[in-house]
Amino acid sequence: MTQQAIETVAVIGGGTAGWMAAAALARKLRGTVRITLVESAEIGTVGVGEATIPPIVDFNTFLGIDETAFIQATQASFKLGIELRDWGAPGDRYLHPFGRYGLDFEGASFHQHWLRQRELGDPGTLDEYCLPAAAARAGKFFRPVKDTRNILSMLAYAFHFDASRYAAFLRAYAEERGVVRQEGKIVEVVQRPLDGFIEGVRLESGEVIEADLFVDCTGFRGLLIEQTLEAGFEDWSHWLPCDRAVAVPSQNVGPPEPYTRSTAQRAGWRWRIPLQHRTGNGYVHCSQFISEDEATADLLAGLDGEALAEPRMLRFKTGRRRKSWIRNCVAIGLASGFLEPLESTSIHMIQTGIFRLLALFPDRTFDPVLAEEYNRQAANEYARLRDFVILHYHATTRSDSPLWDHVRTMEIPETLQRKLALFRSQGRFFREDEELFSETSWVAVMMGQGVMPRAYDPVAAAHDPEAMRQRMERFRHAVAHAAAEMPTHQAFIDRYCKAPPV
Ligand code: FAD
Repeated sequence: MTQQAIETVAVIGGGTAGWMAAAALARKLRGTVRITLVESAEIGTVGVGEATIPPIVDFNTFLGIDETAFIQATQASFKLGIELRDWGAPGDRYLHPFGRYGLDFEGASFHQHWLRQRELGDPGTLDEYCLPAAAARAGKFFRPVKDTRNILSMLAYAFHFDASRYAAFLRAYAEERGVVRQEGKIVEVVQRPLDGFIEGVRLESGEVIEADLFVDCTGFRGLLIEQTLEAGFEDWSHWLPCDRAVAVPSQNVGPPEPYTRSTAQRAGWRWRIPLQHRTGNGYVHCSQFISEDEATADLLAGLDGEALAEPRMLRFKTGRRRKSWIRNCVAIGLASGFLEPLESTSIHMIQTGIFRLLALFPDRTFDPVLAEEYNRQAANEYARLRDFVILHYHATTRSDSPLWDHVRTMEIPETLQRKLALFRSQGRFFREDEELFSETSWVAVMMGQGVMPRAYDPVAAAHDPEAMRQRMERFRHAVAHAAAEMPTHQAFIDRYCKAPPV
């Protein structure tokens, strides 16, 4: 067997994607490969990804990062889910919690038993059977415990953090492990004439950075993957027409809630992300239906604290690169595609892109089968997440603006049609292709936005209703008791991980 190991990797771009990739590669490859990261202070980063989902905890664990140090360095707060307001109809409010609803109650999913008990007169909401939801509603937080007999093991959490501080934190981590940072603007990508493999990137100074493998983390522009290798772009803006966001930080008013808030607006939706030192706000909108000035004015008018900076406008197109890995170039982060941040999936996709690259790490022969597998998995992941985000727009009765009329009545992907039909029939859900979001997530959004099954699973009907009522009641009380005993989110932060003032 001949081994032609990769000796040099160039990570191009120093945003969240670039530094996450550099840190993870340095950790995993442990000095066997020389890693250089090129970034340009002149170009800068997007720097707005602030809300995450629970697998970020695994990423930090993989790096061996001390969680308290990370929280303090990034001014992070904890997140137990997302509160969605005004999505199904104006005035609606529901929670998409992390973790799951209820327990495995013999055969059928928990929500099936809940549907049956509801029909029999149980007044409890689904949230009352979910500890992260109950804690979020009460403004409480505690870390999950490992002992699965303890109800606190049902907690799951992620973070709200300052993205620029996270990149800086990972930069220090990566540099300590030998990653060399190269400042400079790339003016040319040099390809091997014979086969189009990338040989190097030329900086404005004239210096050429060569490598065996290139990780394109250059953001929306996709300097290597698109501008050089012409991967092509699958445009999804007919399903997800929002193409702008205006973002502004504001002063905190009161303690930070342990959840992100997303409020539907006539031409898009607003986010509210409370960190320790400030609150992140933004209005994702569709330029076809609202001007940038109007969106900015709406955002500023709805702030609950004083704005701390000038509003920043970001432009994007929803979709994905047709291929994320071509020859010796793998695109990660915004260079590989974009889905609006409604379910905080972008940083997660950076993470899965990195882990996928590590799982399929090539040698210098770059066997095409590796890239094919990478691209197949990436395409599936994107499509499943796309469907989940589209669900939020489509499952609505809103008819108060052209945007909502469009998304409510549009033709949706066949994969989503099938999921909705199955759920409407008897509340069934199946996770496909290792998709990220679980049954609890889909049930939360579907029922939260008024998609109710016509009947429940007959398997749930096979249980003695009174015995089931008692079991569910006991569980509901255990959830309420555990949530009541937990410290407030602010008290938890103050006690365990308060960040220094900025
Ligand atoms: P960028 O941050 O754009 O970094 C690109 C890098 O490439 C920079 O360092 C730049 O200097 C470098 N570069 C580019 N061209 C050159 C060149 N010619 N020479 C040298 N260097 C170059 N994600 C979440 O998970 N949660 C959220 O809440 C969330 N909110 C978002 C809100 C909005 C409005 C947007 C637009 C995105 C949001 N995201 C969110 C996504 C998240 O911001 C990105 O996934 C994340 O910041 C990664 O960006 P990136 O590193 O791929 O690109």
